[in-house]
Amino acid sequence: MSIYSNNQQQIAEYLSREDKVTLSRWTDWRWQLKHSITRVETFEKLLGIELEVMERRKISLTLKKFPLSMTPYYLSLIDRSDFRNDPVFRQAFPDPQELEIDKCDMVDPLAEDQDSPAPGITHRYPDRVLFHVSNVCAMYCRHCTRKRKVGDIDSIPDRNQILAGLDYIRKTLEIRDVLLSGGDPLMLNDAYLDWILTELRQIEHVQVVRIGSRMPVVLPYRVTDELVEMLKKHQPLWLNTHFNHPCEITSSSRVALKKLADAGIPLGNQSVLLAGVNDCPRIIKSLVHKLVENRVRPYYLYQCDLSEGLSHFRTPVGKGVEIMESLIGHTSGFSVPTYVIDAPGGGGKIPLMPNYLISLSTNKVVLRNYEGVITTYREPDSYKQKFCDRKCEGCNLKLKLEDGEEADATGIEMLLDDCDETISLTPAENQRLERRDEC
Ligand SMILES: *Cc1c(COP(=O)(O)O)cnc(C)c1O
Repeated sequence: MSIYSNNQQQIAEYLSREDKVTLSRWTDWRWQLKHSITRVETFEKLLGIELEVMERRKISLTLKKFPLSMTPYYLSLIDRSDFRNDPVFRQAFPDPQELEIDKCDMVDPLAEDQDSPAPGITHRYPDRVLFHVSNVCAMYCRHCTRKRKVGDIDSIPDRNQILAGLDYIRKTLEIRDVLLSGGDPLMLNDAYLDWILTELRQIEHVQVVRIGSRMPVVLPYRVTDELVEMLKKHQPLWLNTHFNHPCEITSSSRVALKKLADAGIPLGNQSVLLAGVNDCPRIIKSLVHKLVENRVRPYYLYQCDLSEGLSHFRTPVGKGVEIMESLIGHTSGFSVPTYVIDAPGGGGKIPLMPNYLISLSTNKVVLRNYEGVITTYREPDSYKQKFCDRKCEGCNLKLKLEDGEEADATGIEMLLDDCDETISLTPAENQRLERRDEC
């Protein structure tokens, strides 16, 4: 059997220095990883292009800080006739602009290293943690928010670190959701991942496990029948992947997604809004439609983070709102992702969308719909306000008390609470209050 396209055949033969590379080698994920493209010269050869001396020099400087690696498969998706504008090229090939540091850029904008109570763990939200189980990826995305760690062999988690992370999860009873992240967790071999998942599944308070992986996009052959059989043992397991452009949804990625979905693993997608790649309502709409066609639910659309080296990828927030405006109401609700900014400093994800609430009075709200139609909703006159002490015993609504885990409210939820005395939240170091303390 021959390889899918001439393009892939040529790439395979050049990389392996063999005359005839069979389909079974091309679709072997280990073959793909072994033949990953890490040098600009190889890239030029494979695309049949020649960069100018100056450009090549600038790129080699960029590579000293942020290395290059991509799979032959992902490279084969690049349209050679207009490679500079190609979304795959832009996501994979270094750009000297990565060395331009903006004054707002940060090394670790999401403060993941600060919110880390144990090696490899980021514990930011009350009930869930990120667990970095791998530091390597099949492809180094140029827009990676963890660019600081890419290719840094010192941060590859070893078995002891994984054990320490597992210990933290085991002793922290409020964690009910663990997100395996990295790097790409599917870079681990099946047996090792099986071990981590087995350990997690034995922890009673861990209700769900999620895997974040870009393999269906950059190396779909990683999704083997054996992998899927192994993952199936660890249900309920969710998987979020990372498609950014409709051209990434190929016949090979469709096969990978089908295997996962058929195994009963709910699939989600997290895209990043990237200038020059997908900052267009029509592109995102086409992407989300292709995703749901393949049983992948668009989950988040991220505003590009403030990590160093990403300034040329950032769009104004208005572009994201414009895209949301073109999705909400215009297409199936389950095709619409949530547009979020991951707050610098570690505040977590903040959702953003166009405003639909125009005004309100004590008994009416004025709203507008996606078409611009302005409408009113009359609120009930009969609704009886009830004092809620969050204790639930005397309440006529039947919440089984053992299911009602969170009794205490925090933050804005606390301000809304009937039984908490707090009336305001004040930033630390408020000058007015400091003056009070002084006198
Ligand atoms: C995104 C993220 C999560 C998961 O957030 P969800 O909104 O539940 O998907 C958890 N921890 C950290 C640190 C994150 O960045």
